[in-house]
Amino acid sequence: MSQVKGTCVKSVIEFGSKRGGGEKWKDILAELKPEAQSLFSRAILPGDWYALEAYHQLLVAMAKHLSGGDPKLGIEIGRKIMEDGLGGVYKVLLGTGLISPKLIMSNANLLWKRYFDKEILTIAEVDIRHVRIQVTAPINPPKVYCHALLGGILQSLEMVGAKNTVGQELNCRQTGSESCEFLVNWT
Ligand SMILES: [Zn+2]
Repeated sequence: MSQVKGTCVKSVIEFGSKRGGGEKWKDILAELKPEAQSLFSRAILPGDWYALEAYHQLLVAMAKHLSGGDPKLGIEIGRKIMEDGLGGVYKVLLGTGLISPKLIMSNANLLWKRYFDKEILTIAEVDIRHVRIQVTAPINPPKVYCHALLGGILQSLEMVGAKNTVGQELNCRQTGSESCEFLVNWT
């Protein structure tokens, strides 16, 4: 079973409950299957692992209730995840110029492993102005999840000084590709 780390789930729940307020958050939880519902109704422990399938359900329900079903909400969710993640671990190094956009992208799979146990992130290409990243796993994700990945990449780059970031998902597991493939350029 593929899993996602509690730190990530915690950021997502903070985002959703803040954006939606108490009533909408209840609607979001009510949308989930019973197992996922009870999982995310309890306190989230940052060090625990949570079922990726339940996490996918949560993201889909959030898009339904917070953005009228628009999966692009994922971009904002992914940004929040990495803002919390990098802000905690690398706070002192950010903005010092010691971590360049290329360096952080070259090490993206190390960061990735802090969040996902079975999803595999591969850096297909990276240089000082662009990165191409592939993500594969046994479970096909909903589109909002793919947008969250893209949002996380954009946020990570911007936090180490990348400007004018532009990203897109070139290929997606949802439309039959073997991996979700992202291309991001910056200046
Ligand atoms: Zn995808």
